[in-house]
This record gives sequence, C-alpha cells and structure tokens, in this order.
Amino acid sequence: MSTVPRSDVAIIGAGPVGLFAIFECGMLKMSCQVIDALDVVGGQCAALYPEKPIYDIPGYPQIGAMELIDRLTEQAAPFNPVYHLNQRVDSLAREGEDWLLTTSTGTQLRARAIIIAAGVGAFGPNRPPLADLESYEGKSVFYLVKRREDMRGKRVVIAGGGDSAVDWALSLADVAARVMVVHRRDKFRAAPDSAAKLKALAQSGRIELVVPYQLEGLEGSGGALSAVIVKDLDRGVRRLEADVLLPFFGLAMNLGPIAQWGLNLERNHIKVDPATCATSAPGIFAIGDIASYPGKLKLILSGFAEAAMAAHAIYPLVHPGEVLHFEYSTTKGVPGASAGHD
Ligand SMILES: Cc1cc2nc3c(=O)[nH]c(=O)nc-3n(C[C@H](O)[C@H](O)[C@H](O)COP(=O)(O)OP(=O)(O)OC[C@H]3O[C@@H](n4cnc5c(N)ncnc54)[C@H](O)[C@@H]3O)c2cc1C
Repeated sequence: MSTVPRSDVAIIGAGPVGLFAIFECGMLKMSCQVIDALDVVGGQCAALYPEKPIYDIPGYPQIGAMELIDRLTEQAAPFNPVYHLNQRVDSLAREGEDWLLTTSTGTQLRARAIIIAAGVGAFGPNRPPLADLESYEGKSVFYLVKRREDMRGKRVVIAGGGDSAVDWALSLADVAARVMVVHRRDKFRAAPDSAAKLKALAQSGRIELVVPYQLEGLEGSGGALSAVIVKDLDRGVRRLEADVLLPFFGLAMNLGPIAQWGLNLERNHIKVDPATCATSAPGIFAIGDIASYPGKLKLILSGFAEAAMAAHAIYPLVHPGEVLHFEYSTTKGVPGASAGHD
C-alpha cells in the first residue's frame, strides 16, 4: 500500500484561480491537494500587487487583491484542502490510473486528475548578487511584503526603480521609521503619478532617494541586518543603516518544468479544449492565465469560470459511472453553512 498522500485532484498553483478550483471541486465531492512554489497562497495577487484594489471581480465594486485571496481561501476551507507550499512541482508520471507528482523538496503525491493553474509559471525573485545574501533572506531581506504592518518602526531600504519599488516606498512611508530608495538612475519606471508622489515625498523629507546608487553589500550578523552598503558609478560608497532590505528587481517567471511534461504548448501557454479545459494529456486540465484557447481573456473572472468547467469535466474520472446532476450552490449548500430557506 502506497504511503504517498492521495487526493482526487492535485492543483498546481495556489493563485486566485487555483484557490477557486478547490471550491468547485469540493462542491462536486472531490478532494484536493494544492502545491505552490511560493510560500504563501495568492499567486500574482499576493506576490505582485497585494495592496492594490481590483475593480472587476463580480459583486465587488472594489476589493483589495489580498482581501480577495483571503476570501477565496475562506471559501475553499470547508473542503479541507491540503496545501504544499514553498515547493515547485517538478515532474509528473503515470501510476496506474493516477498521476504521481514529485516536488522540488522531494514530496510526492498522487491524484486521479491534475488541474494546472500555474499562471505564468513558477515565480522566483530576481536576487541581487550580494555576498552572504542567503543568510539574511526571510529574516531581514524580503522579496515580497506580506503585511505592511511588519515594517512598522523599521528602517527600510527598498532597491529598484519599477512599480513595486515605488508603490512600496509610498505605502511604507507612513509606517516605517525610515524609507530609503536605492536606484541606479534618478528616473523611475513606475506609473507617472506614483513616480511624482515619490519625488514629492522625497522633497518633504519623508523618504530618502539614494540615486544613482546600486547595492554593494550587507552588514549584520545572524540574519539580522545592520546596514546596506551601496556604491555609485564613480565607486563612491555609502553605508545605509537599516533593519530591512526589500530588493524589487522583478520576478523571474518561467514555465520551468511544465514545459517538459509533453503537453501541447503555444507560446508558453497550455492549449486546452475551451469546453472542458482538458489538455492534450488524459486527466490533466489547465485553467487561469496559463490556459490558452481562442478568445482567451487573462482575467481572474475567466479563470473562475474555467475552474467550474474543469471540475465538471473531471467528475466522471473521479466518480466513474455516477451521473452528475447539475445543481446550483443555493440548492446544494456548502459544508458548515446553515441551510437556506425554501
Ligand atoms: C499588477 C497587476 C494587476 C492586475 N490587475 C488585475 C485586475 O484588475 N483584474 C484581473 O482580473 N486581473 C488582474 N491581473 C491579472 C491577474 O492577477 C491574473 O489573471 C491572475 O493572477 C491569474 O491567476 P492564476 O491563478 O491563473 O495564476 P497566478 O496568479 O499567476 O498564480 C499561479 C501560481 O502557480 C504557481 N506555480 C507555477 N508553476 C508552478 C509549479 N511548477 N509548481 C508549483 N507552483 C507553481 C506560481 O508560483 C503562482 O503562485 C493583474 C496582474 C498584475 C500583475
């Protein structure tokens, strides 16, 4: 008897679409395990724009990206998903009627069907080439800010010149003890409005622009940072006393191992049947940003509909011989919710 954990469905990617797929599978009595390369759920919403408002989620005139993720996680919770975070699915192999998935940490899991909701591929931050960087990562060097409050009272160095660097500088100016923005040019690539706000905050002394400088080294011990060393193009060096470094040099996104799984690909996307989201491999479905079909819109709301279609298409694989009677959630209810009225 195999000791490898088994579920009906394995969902690769815990972005908004993967999270909603847990709910849709759960409503059809299918259990899920969910794997993500990031150490938090939420995909692009969590990693790229947690504090931005989204305006095109039906029923929410405006909702913060992280709030949407919290709600999706809550909506999935009654179906008891098992999350395997901080690990990338590296390989898939057939094992009888099941698929066997192996992750970058060596974890193995089995499932009857797979939903790939991997967005633009596994995320990884572009890491600055600094000596001893690993010993600070996750302790005082962070590539994404999970909660703004974590930065309260800290001396924060932000490195980078794009939207993330500028947006976080603006956001943290109110909570951090000090915000220093290191960029190799004095022009920022962020939205013009945000770049203008950044300059205004610098002029009022609320933040310091350390330009044109680049990261050179870190000082500290035991993972606790005491200073960030920067240098300019003439090799002039400055020592910025700091508790936290936030390097925002973008996220490297690549399909990575997914490209090796023998699926029918089209320009880094997985081609699917638009009626079912089935890929070219039996039992493997793809939804959300990674799925491609004529007329595809890369929107969260399209991904939600694809999650429902994939779950319905998977049902006969998990419950062979059982006829699926289509039912509304209002009729079925969800586990733990009080019954509705007739
Ligand atoms: C700045 C910005 C603003 C946006 N605004 C909007 C908006 O207003 N409205 C809207 O509808 N959309 C918006 N989007 C797009 C929206 O975020 C995406 O459409 C959505 O995130 C796609 O969800 P997803 O679950 O398919 O993939 P993602 O959110 O990309 O999540 C995929 C997850 O899969 C993981 N993964 C990938 N490969 C593997 C692997 N091999 N093993 C393990 N894990 C893996 C990744 O780490 C990632 O966490 C915006 C995007 C950006 C960048």
